[in-house]
Amino acid sequence: MKSLANQLKLEGKKTLVLGAGKSGVGAARFLKKHGATVALHDKKPVADWSEEARSLKDGKIGLIDGQLPSWLLDQIDLVVISPGVPTNSIPARYVDRKDGEVIGEVELAYRFMKGRIVGITGSNGKTTTTTLIGEILKNAGIETQIGGNIGTPLIDLAESSTDKTWTVCELSSFQLETIVDFRPNVAAALNVTPNHLDRYDFFSDYAAAKHRLLMNQTDEDVAILNADDEVTESWAKGLKANVVLFSVKKELEEGLFLRGRELVCRADGKEKILTTRDEIFLRGLHNVENVLASLAVGLACGASPDSMRETVKNFKGVEHRLEFIARIEGVSFYNDSKATSVDATLKALEALSESDGKTVLILGGRGKNAPYQPLVQLIEKSVRQLVLIGEDSDNIESQLKNHAGIVRAENMQDAVKKSFYSAESGDAILLAPACASFDMFKSYEERGTIFKTEVLNLNFKVQKGEAR
Ligand code: ADP
Repeated sequence: MKSLANQLKLEGKKTLVLGAGKSGVGAARFLKKHGATVALHDKKPVADWSEEARSLKDGKIGLIDGQLPSWLLDQIDLVVISPGVPTNSIPARYVDRKDGEVIGEVELAYRFMKGRIVGITGSNGKTTTTTLIGEILKNAGIETQIGGNIGTPLIDLAESSTDKTWTVCELSSFQLETIVDFRPNVAAALNVTPNHLDRYDFFSDYAAAKHRLLMNQTDEDVAILNADDEVTESWAKGLKANVVLFSVKKELEEGLFLRGRELVCRADGKEKILTTRDEIFLRGLHNVENVLASLAVGLACGASPDSMRETVKNFKGVEHRLEFIARIEGVSFYNDSKATSVDATLKALEALSESDGKTVLILGGRGKNAPYQPLVQLIEKSVRQLVLIGEDSDNIESQLKNHAGIVRAENMQDAVKKSFYSAESGDAILLAPACASFDMFKSYEERGTIFKTEVLNLNFKVQKGEAR
């Protein structure tokens, strides 16, 4: 149980919340409730804020847009930063001020959170793993709540936590940048691969932000690390926490690993088969990694192996993550709109290449400055055709044109139509863009939803004999 020595005194404090999204709104509300006055700031004009954010304005909460007034900073006792606000946007002189504290929304939540915490980070797989862990703990009869980078901001869970609660939180590198004392009792680091290089100058910067998940852990805590990932594996030696490794590539002396089709836990020289690949609904080896990490967390939190096995069996995954949509004339459609990085696309392609048919891959959107070269080998092996959408198309074409046939599509409807023309019975059509969605869509969710709608429209036309 953590000590409350660092709990903040908020009564009468003057606070500034940077970012008026979900986390900022939650933080502002919380601060006010605990007696602080709040300046809620976002660079977007107030008129463009959510209804919820605008409605906060009252005697205790003021709304500020655009540039921060120059006099404001010197009057503030505490700054709370939302994950979407880059930390380098805070003037350095302010961070260094002698009485002011600058923390993230996750840290604010932590200072008031009761019970114990599971923290999950990684470049890919966080949401899938966090969701599965939530199910595992709930089904094991443990009082559980889930939040952070997924769904509910952590600050909104602080007051509902009790001494018995396990709060499972998904944490992005942005959220980890601004923690101070945050200490998860059980932490899982899934993988660290090039991502968000638009926000970080160096890969090592990004990896270091992720490593912060483990920096406050003690020998009472558990750190679960992917032994197959070069970065997370390299963290094992320097930690105070008890390290549990997992691997889909090798048998470990201690830890959780895949052997043939069995997911095995080996501890103190004893082995137990926790489940098998045939009992996992989710496709792909990357999802076996997610399941192994989740099982390791479950064990660390005291869930029983039998109950975990049952939960894994019933877990159907999360929308927009290699989600099966439909089979039309023998062609299977998968929506992996959440594959916004090259690595996630690679994993999706790998998962589908376990089947006999080829894949028509819909790729593109707003590029993230990461090379597409890592896809080459799998593209040559398993891709029938690349269908490119979005603003990074020229760049993708220049990098991949010697490795696959390429067609360009104007929008999602066009992409679905052209993919279907290229596919043969037994093939898969996969939306896994390796890019952000913001050039054409509001979000990856919208991109995935439109893809699904277009697939269902196509199905309708096929039924009526109007397609192909
Ligand atoms: P995150 O929350 O970290 O973005 P998600 O579970 O939402 O992770 O999955 C994001 C994308 O990464 C999806 O396209 C998914 O298919 C892929 N993915 C899921 N787990 C992994 C993993 N362990 N390694 C690589 N890619 C993964």
